[in-house]
Amino acid sequence: MKIQYKLWLTFTSLFIIMGLALYLFIVNAYEKRAIAGQAGVMGSQGAAVVEKINGTYPKFPDRTMGYLQFYSKQLDARLFLLDEKNEVVFDTSGQVSQGTSLNLSILAKVKGQPVSEFIKTGPFGYVQYTMLPLHQIVNGKIPDSNNSAHGYLLVVKDINVVYEDIHSFQRWMLGLMFAAVVLFFIVCFPVASWFTKPIADLIDNLRKISPHKRSFAMKYKRKDEIRKLVDAITEMVGQLNHYEQRQRQFLSASSHELKTPLATIQLIVENLKFVQHDDRLFKEFTGDLSGQIDKMKQMVDQLLDIHRVWDKPIERDWVSLDEAEKHIKDHFLLLAEHKEIRLVFQTDSGAVFVDRDLFFRGLDNLVSNAVRYSPEGSEVIISFKMKGKELVQCSVCDRGIGISKEDLLNVLEPFYRAKDATEWNQEGTGLGLTIVKQMVDIHGGTMEIKSLPGKGTCVFLYLSNKNDTKGLLS
Ligand code: ATP
Ligand code: MG
Repeated sequence: MKIQYKLWLTFTSLFIIMGLALYLFIVNAYEKRAIAGQAGVMGSQGAAVVEKINGTYPKFPDRTMGYLQFYSKQLDARLFLLDEKNEVVFDTSGQVSQGTSLNLSILAKVKGQPVSEFIKTGPFGYVQYTMLPLHQIVNGKIPDSNNSAHGYLLVVKDINVVYEDIHSFQRWMLGLMFAAVVLFFIVCFPVASWFTKPIADLIDNLRKISPHKRSFAMKYKRKDEIRKLVDAITEMVGQLNHYEQRQRQFLSASSHELKTPLATIQLIVENLKFVQHDDRLFKEFTGDLSGQIDKMKQMVDQLLDIHRVWDKPIERDWVSLDEAEKHIKDHFLLLAEHKEIRLVFQTDSGAVFVDRDLFFRGLDNLVSNAVRYSPEGSEVIISFKMKGKELVQCSVCDRGIGISKEDLLNVLEPFYRAKDATEWNQEGTGLGLTIVKQMVDIHGGTMEIKSLPGKGTCVFLYLSNKNDTKGLLS
């Protein structure tokens, strides 16, 4: 069932429940008020009769009966005069004979004060019984005692009119409520549609996204959760496009970069036959050939490395910072010595929680760059520092050729090599820093490069040591 219909029905059901509760409350209050009013009227009218007959009963029975007959017509009610034992003394309708005991619940209720009771009887419909005590007059005054009643006036009045009024009010209210429910039911549909329209729009827009057309441009003005959802989807689609674009660039750059050594290889191979009789040239050609093949192999290996990283989940392990230092020494001391470059280590005691292979591959690339892009006789400072318990800073600083501001913006891009670097050192594919950045990203860390052309370069890696840190692939 559509959310729109669910909302519609839920709103309407709630409205009906609330409407019914309100209806019952109002109708009940109206009935209570009407009955209380009727009780009050009968009480005061009865009190007037009681006042009249208080002086005549029981001394002057005829006059009492005369009054009762008179007031019976006036009040349009049947009046009973009862003695203190609740036995009938007089009935204005003449139907109940003297001395009869009436079987009415109100008789048990009356104490010293007037009481009214409303009963629905079979033949007469709604009847109001009002009972008022008669008091003896002593010296022109009623003694202040409940027991002084020496008889009772019972007023029996047909109050169907009052109930008709109550019932007509109930019918009117019911009609009003029904009209309100119908109106609400009609109005609620567009309201429910208004609420759910963005969801329908969202679905429509999402359905438009395809592998060929990956765009999401939904206009949404309200500021609510759907706005956040739209923003999140827009951002997600933007990121997907960005990644796809980068992937394409990477692919075209890879094929382009592979083409260059291939073209050279092709050229050499084509010309080999012309130099086969010249030993020196032949050696030179084959040397170049193997150089180009090595370059291609290195590039393919690096490309495979980059690709493989995304395929397998990372396996974190504690790598002590001393072990990291030893790893660098084992792999780079000889190379550094060869270039008369001094490797200086600043290593804290501690450990870093990383994927060992990826971490070392990243470090190797940084140290390799520092050694390759530094002049002979300079020094490279490699430091592993604990920044608190949960952060490790690894840095590699050199006093080499440095990187210009413009190049700094691009050095992380695959295959990017600064012009200075190419002139300084012909070797290199421009994938080293891409691998470093990928390693840092996968570990959820950050990376910073500071460099001044002609002065040197510092690369800082910040890796979190939190056990729960999730790398992109972990
Ligand atoms: P390789 O893939 O073999 O590492 P590469 O060193 O050229 O090739 P990256 O390591 O990605 O590729 O570096 C990209 C570019 O950044 C380099 O070509 C160079 O211009 C610049 N660069 C990186 N590190 C340094 C450094 N320490 N000093 C000066 N320039 C650097
Ligand atoms: Mg490099």
